Amino acid sequence: MTITYEYHNSLYVNITNRCSNACVFCVRTKHDNVNGKDDLWLDREPSIEEIKADFEKRDLSKYDEIVFCGYGEPTERFDDLIEIARWIKSKKPDSVIRINTNGQANLINGRDVTPELDGAIDIIGISLNASNAKEYQDICKSRYGEESFEALQDFAKRAKDYVKLVVFSVVDKTIPESDIEICRKIAEDCGVKFRLREYIE
Ligand code: SF4
Repeated sequence: MTITYEYHNSLYVNITNRCSNACVFCVRTKHDNVNGKDDLWLDREPSIEEIKADFEKRDLSKYDEIVFCGYGEPTERFDDLIEIARWIKSKKPDSVIRINTNGQANLINGRDVTPELDGAIDIIGISLNASNAKEYQDICKSRYGEESFEALQDFAKRAKDYVKLVVFSVVDKTIPESDIEICRKIAEDCGVKFRLREYIE
């Protein structure tokens, strides 16, 4: 079971395969891994103790960032994620901890979770993926429907009060060029950064 894995200069954390989306471009539909070696499909979700034990085997000083990402939406296990992030910070306070998310944490957890990010998470990367609610739903197929597009923007606006950096990203080649500029404007209106991410074949 791959719980943590190295990718570029960061240590990634794979805590769930659950996701509120079923994106048409999801890398999970094409590969079992992202780094060419570590199978990211989980037979079952690892316990908090198993995740901590996996971290104990790593030298955290080697990595630029700890990234909750994996093959699923990490905020499906939001409470566990925050507990683990706080535990990492207690061991190494200068760790930079990032969540790569679809931004649906408040819908998934049925409450505004953003205040709980305070002191635990440094960076939130949110996949925006589309320039409007209908296209988002066509591409991402959220179980919450078109409402999810507005919700992820609301999440971003709230989250930026509690973390150092919030970034909206769009994957290159998955939406029309003209929509990329609209996405950039949405990020600006929400007061967050914008990044065009490379498409992984
Ligand atoms: S949100 Fe991420 S993990 Fe979930 S289906 Fe989309 S690309 Fe895959």
